[in-house]
Amino acid sequence: MKKVKALSVFSGGLDSILSVLILRQQGIEVEGVYFETPFFTSERARESAKRIGIPLRIIDITDEMLSIIKNPRFGYGACLNPCLDCRLLMIKKAAEIMKREGFDFIFTGEVIGQRPMSQTKRALLKIKELCGCGDYLLLPLSARHLPLTLPEREGKVDRNRLLGIHGRSRKEQMRLAEAFGIDSYPSPAGGCLLTDKAFSGRLMDLLIHQKEIKKRDILLLKLGRHFRINPLTKVILGRNRRENEDISSLITPEDSYLNVLEYPGPLVLIPYGGDDEGRRKAAILAASYSDAPSNVPIIKVKICHDNKTYYINAPLQPKTDLHRFMIKPYEKN
Ligand code: SF4
Repeated sequence: MKKVKALSVFSGGLDSILSVLILRQQGIEVEGVYFETPFFTSERARESAKRIGIPLRIIDITDEMLSIIKNPRFGYGACLNPCLDCRLLMIKKAAEIMKREGFDFIFTGEVIGQRPMSQTKRALLKIKELCGCGDYLLLPLSARHLPLTLPEREGKVDRNRLLGIHGRSRKEQMRLAEAFGIDSYPSPAGGCLLTDKAFSGRLMDLLIHQKEIKKRDILLLKLGRHFRINPLTKVILGRNRRENEDISSLITPEDSYLNVLEYPGPLVLIPYGGDDEGRRKAAILAASYSDAPSNVPIIKVKICHDNKTYYINAPLQPKTDLHRFMIKPYEKN
């Protein structure tokens, strides 16, 4: 008899691990897929997949996610997290793989009622309805609360051995983890930067000021202090040597960058160069955030811009006077 094969949309968290183990108990062969972007990366999923021994493929969906973030059909959560659209995208992409490669169904580790936006019963039924493959989408941990799916009706999956977990309590999952001999697992907080206020504030600033957003622009959002000087000039300051190095590795020829020569201090990056006024302000930031003593009135700052290097003398200013340029955390209206 042909073995039943299922594809897990695998996050690497405890729920997705348990959903795999529950199906494997029924003799079902499982593979995983992780959809990656700079907002949510695959380390945790890779590690968990290795631990439970499932093959995992990683697929980059940065461009699709950016389009969704710019214009989410179902809106955002508390920050710039378009969870419903995001889940829908992942399910649709998993369903394409299922059809192309002959998997019998797809499944996720989602639990009804666990998260406010994408995991209410209504939201999950909506995802099932809109993804075009709802009959093939199984949630092993909450299946008893949902209508029968095709693999259950066809006898490929025994519904009696699926679960009816509901709500935010993690007790049942912990009990199951113990029963399966899983003694350590990643925390349930998903690690998606789109749910982070500081990150979402920076991303919102980027969406407002930059038409075309590249992957490295998103990677820069994770590093340093961010200041918006004017519509053309954003300034990023490394907070320590490690960040200076990381920012330095992301510089492109279109950027300007600055640093103080006589004292230790931040690497200062202006993505896409900025304008004259912006570069002057960036020099003040470079000087003011350097380790120069506060009684030194003027600091020499090196500026690399448009393949040229020049120097300007920048005054030191109290950091509190510069805070007004700092990009603020996201606040939902
Ligand atoms: S928290 Fe992030 S990864 Fe998870 S569904 Fe929402 S947007 Fe997608």
